[in-house]
Amino acid sequence: MNIILLAPPAAGKGTQSEILKKEYNLNHISTGDLLREASKEESDFGRNLKTIMGSGNLVSDDIVLEVLTKYLLRTDNSNLLLDGFPRNIYQAEKLDEILKDKNQEINYVFLLNVGKDNLLNRIIGRRQCKGCGAIYNVNTDSLKPRIDSICDKCGSSLITRKDDNADTFEIRYQEYLNQTEPLISYYREKGILFEIDSSINKDNTFMQIQSILGKR
Ligand code: AMP
Repeated sequence: MNIILLAPPAAGKGTQSEILKKEYNLNHISTGDLLREASKEESDFGRNLKTIMGSGNLVSDDIVLEVLTKYLLRTDNSNLLLDGFPRNIYQAEKLDEILKDKNQEINYVFLLNVGKDNLLNRIIGRRQCKGCGAIYNVNTDSLKPRIDSICDKCGSSLITRKDDNADTFEIRYQEYLNQTEPLISYYREKGILFEIDSSINKDNTFMQIQSILGKR
């Protein structure tokens, strides 16, 4: 089965991905993580990418699709868990083409719903492990690390992403409304959109997803 997590920034895509990939043995692909890795390149390409991502705007479709296609060449192309892709209709249509070529299709699109105020609070408290990428939140009791600024899982230090601040959040949120929200109707019309209330906590969100996956 192939799954897409669709959500505004900081609604819980990364956290749910960590749980889902373990529980269902999925091949987790975060285009944000792939692009952050590519942006470390010491070149104009790397520096430009870092600037765009730091500003909160979306990266061009060509770049995202290139990075994603390269990644798909070196990984198993089934049981995909797509986190942060597609972000607009063009990317969704391209994804359909890529999967069709591999005799695959998207089976579930989970829309994680969280109100805007709650999202901002999450963005400001979010920390990510430099080593393994695990996600924490210092504003949410159930997501705090056991030791301040240290990853529970691998012991590396936790960092604040450059794009996790109030100003950039506004731009990212607008990008979501303008570019990504139209995907809700796109997938609803295909009958594969499932709405999840992701405002309570990570276990509650996961339980809702699990009950849908268990029903089919
Ligand atoms: P994320 O980790 O999903 O929050 O993504 C961080 C940033 O990476 C976004 O704000 C965009 O600049 C860029 N990005 C990630 N995925 C995409 C995508 N599918 N299309 C365009 N830009 C993306």
